[in-house]
Amino acid sequence: MKLKTHILLLFSIFYFLFSSHRLFSQNSDSIMIHRIFSEALSNNTAYKNLEYLCTKIGGRICGSPQSEEAVRWAKKTLDGMNLDTVFLQDLRVRHWVRGSQEVVIVNPGKKTGFWLNTCAIGGSVGTGAKGITGKVVEVYDFEDLKKMGKEKVGGKIVFFNHPADPTFFYTFNAYGGVVKYRVFGAAEAAKYGAVAVIVRSATLAHDDYPHTGILHYADSVKQIPAMAISTNDADKLSGLLKREPGAELFLQMVNIEQPEVVSYNVIGEIRGTEHPEEIIAFGGHLDAWDNGEGAHDDGAGVVQTIEVLRLFKALGIKPKRTIRVIVFMDEEMDQRGAKAYAVYAKQMMNTGSVAFEHHFAAIEADRGGFTPSGFSIDASDETVNKIQSWKSLLLPYGLYSFEKGGSGVDIGGLKPLGTALFALVTDSQRYFDYHHSPNDTFDKVNQRELQIGSFSIAALVFLIDKYGL
Ligand SMILES: [Zn+2]
Repeated sequence: MKLKTHILLLFSIFYFLFSSHRLFSQNSDSIMIHRIFSEALSNNTAYKNLEYLCTKIGGRICGSPQSEEAVRWAKKTLDGMNLDTVFLQDLRVRHWVRGSQEVVIVNPGKKTGFWLNTCAIGGSVGTGAKGITGKVVEVYDFEDLKKMGKEKVGGKIVFFNHPADPTFFYTFNAYGGVVKYRVFGAAEAAKYGAVAVIVRSATLAHDDYPHTGILHYADSVKQIPAMAISTNDADKLSGLLKREPGAELFLQMVNIEQPEVVSYNVIGEIRGTEHPEEIIAFGGHLDAWDNGEGAHDDGAGVVQTIEVLRLFKALGIKPKRTIRVIVFMDEEMDQRGAKAYAVYAKQMMNTGSVAFEHHFAAIEADRGGFTPSGFSIDASDETVNKIQSWKSLLLPYGLYSFEKGGSGVDIGGLKPLGTALFALVTDSQRYFDYHHSPNDTFDKVNQRELQIGSFSIAALVFLIDKYGL
C-alpha cells in the first residue's frame, strides 16, 4: 500500500473509534437521563414535601415562628436522606410582623364609601392604631410624582397606579417594569411630603388579590406607611378619582419591626468521589411571604433541589464532584441567607488545603414550579457553548432554551468566585398571578410540572458533574 492509503486507513480507524465512543457515551447519557426522568416522574416525594411545607407550615417570612419550623423541617428532611453531610449555617434576619388588621376605605364615613382588598407592603411601618385619613392623588410613575411636586403631594396619600405591561412574552420583564413602585414608592413619595402610599399590585392578573413584597426606605427620608391594593380595586379607585378628584382614603395597619433574630440556611450534600472540593450547588429559598403558602415562591424550588439529591441516591449515581443543596433563608426581605452563604463560600476558597472548596457551578430554582423550558446561564461563552452541546440530550424533555442571561439573587454572590451560574427557566405566564399573594397555595402547583423541574436540575447537575464546564 502507498503511504497515502496507509494514512487514509489510519485516519478512518481513528475516526471510527472516536465517533463510536462519542455515540456510545451519548447513548449511555441519554439512557441515564431517561432513568433520572423516570424516577423523578414516578416518585411523589417532592410533591409530598411541598404539600407539607405549604399546608402544614404555610407562610414563613424570615424571623417568624413558621420560618423556624420550616428550618427544622428542612433539616429533618435532609437528615433522613442518608447524605454525607447536613448542617445549618446561622445568620441574623429581620423580624417584621404584619398587623392583624389591614384596612383601606375609600370615602370613609360616606354612603358611597367602600373597602379595598389590601395588604401591607413588606417592611412597611404601620399607620398607628388610629389609622391615617387623607386625600388621595393618583400618579402613573415617578415622573408624574415629580411634576406634581410638594405642592400637590404634600399631606396626601399617593396612589401609584402603573399597570404591568402585558405585551412582554416573558412576564418577569413586565414585573421588572412595575416592581419599583412597590419597592421605592414610599421613599419617593415621602420626599414630596406624602403621608402614605398605596400601590397597584405588581401582577398582570386582573383579580382581587393584593400582592405584597419588600420595600426600601431611603435613609434621609421619613418612613411612611405603604399598602398594596388588588388590580381590580386599583382600576375601581382610578375610575372613581376621575369622577371625584377630591376622594379621601382611610388607611390602617399595625405592623411592628421586632428585634432581629437568629435563623439558618439548611445545607446537605453528597461528597464527590474524585473532586470533593469542587462544589456543584443548587437551591431555592425557604422563606415565603406570610400572606400565602409560598408554593410557587419558593416552596417549589426548595423541594425540587432537595429532590436532586434524592434522585442521585435512588439511582445510585456517585458524583465525581460534591453536589450540594442550599435551602436559603431570607430571600424576600434582605437576602441575609444568600449573603452569609457567599461569605462562607469565599472563606472556604481561601482556607488551607484541608477545607478548600471551589464553587464550580450553582443553580437557582426560584421562578415557580411550572413547566421548565431550560436554563438561563450567567457564565463565559465557552460554558454556554458547552451546555448547548448537550441540548440533544435534554430536548426530549422539553428543555430547549440554554441562553446567556441572569441567574438569581440567592446565588448571585458566588459570581466573583468564578462560579458558573444557572437559573431554571419555567413557563412564566401564570407566575405573577400567584407571586406574593394569598393565591400562592399548594393546589396551584401541578405535580408533573414540579417533578419535571426536579428532573431538569438533576439532569444538568449530572452532565456538569460528568463533563465539567
Ligand atoms: Zn422567590
